[in-house]
Amino acid sequence: MVEPRPVVQGLPAYKPGRNPADLAREIGVERAVKLASNEVAFPPLPAVVQAIAQVAGETNRYPDNGAVVLTRALADRYDVDPAQVATGCGAVTLCQELAQAYCEPGTSIAFAWRSFEMYPLLARVAGARAIQVPLVPGRPGGPADTHDLDGLLAAIDDSTRLVFVCNPNNPTGTAVRRAELERFLDAVPASTLVVLDEAYREFVTDPDVPDGIELMRGRPNVAVLRTFSKAWGLAGLRVGYLVAEDPAVAEAVRKTHVPFSVSMLAQAAAVAALSSEDEVRARCAAVTAERERLTGALRERGFDVSDSQANFVWLPLGEESAGLAAGLESRAVITRPFAGDGIRVTVGAPEEDDVFLAALDEVRAASTVA
Ligand SMILES: *Cc1c(COP(=O)(O)O)cnc(C)c1O
Repeated sequence: MVEPRPVVQGLPAYKPGRNPADLAREIGVERAVKLASNEVAFPPLPAVVQAIAQVAGETNRYPDNGAVVLTRALADRYDVDPAQVATGCGAVTLCQELAQAYCEPGTSIAFAWRSFEMYPLLARVAGARAIQVPLVPGRPGGPADTHDLDGLLAAIDDSTRLVFVCNPNNPTGTAVRRAELERFLDAVPASTLVVLDEAYREFVTDPDVPDGIELMRGRPNVAVLRTFSKAWGLAGLRVGYLVAEDPAVAEAVRKTHVPFSVSMLAQAAAVAALSSEDEVRARCAAVTAERERLTGALRERGFDVSDSQANFVWLPLGEESAGLAAGLESRAVITRPFAGDGIRVTVGAPEEDDVFLAALDEVRAASTVA
């Protein structure tokens, strides 16, 4: 038998998320609510649907491997040079390409934990050591849900090529503020690339949470990751991008790019989405208003919910997490539990969140009776 590399053998097998249609059929209800993957509940933007239909007739051809039109649109949008931009088949692919470009055995990647699940996996695949720095309470007496930037800085050593700072953090929703992030960026050695993963940037409402692309300017060892999957509503099309201060970073990522992996449909859709920014902003405002409502409703029920700057909320329920999420699932609500830690709940449409809250009340009532 041909053996995969030992690190690959040690990776967990991919476990697909629960599909709402299957779940609904299984428990005999009309519809299940999925609040597990941080998509927005709105349908694709009208301009996106139109753009996809328009290029559908050209898909016998390869896409533009340089994504020139999209890259130019992003460069204009963020006032950078196209050479500072790289696009990818989702921001997760850009994470992987960064690890491939910068890491090898003997190097390390540092990040907070708990944070985005991809980080430890991509470190392992690259053969790099993962340096995981525990989250700390963001407020006195609160759960450990916030980046410890001093701890992260102290953990960086000569081997550290990449540091991921997920801001706001997935899955806890907390964000680091401008002053502390600036202090951190000033102190990180020039030989370590800081990647600000801003997948949820568009949902940030606190003016003190910095825009990474602004902070990046003048700092050649900083790059920012963004995605069209969340606020822009293109999760199913797979397109994300990196903006780096130093064009050499974007070039290194482009060199490890899987050829043609950003499809023609994805490129056209992303360009169309960028031209609908006002509509996207209005949608994000609805999501953040609903986030505040959901947060309030959970706090009224006694849950210790921190302020989220993303399109999800975090219930820090420790050992109860898996059981509660299973109870919700049996009532047709799919959330994202992290066993032993907490449950991440995507902010849905108001009706979906009401279904979630009602299911939550039922599960808790059932468990106090038992
Ligand atoms: C969703 C997400 C991404 C990007 O996902 P893609 O769909 O691959 O663009 C990146 N980082 C974090 C933290 C995310 O939650």
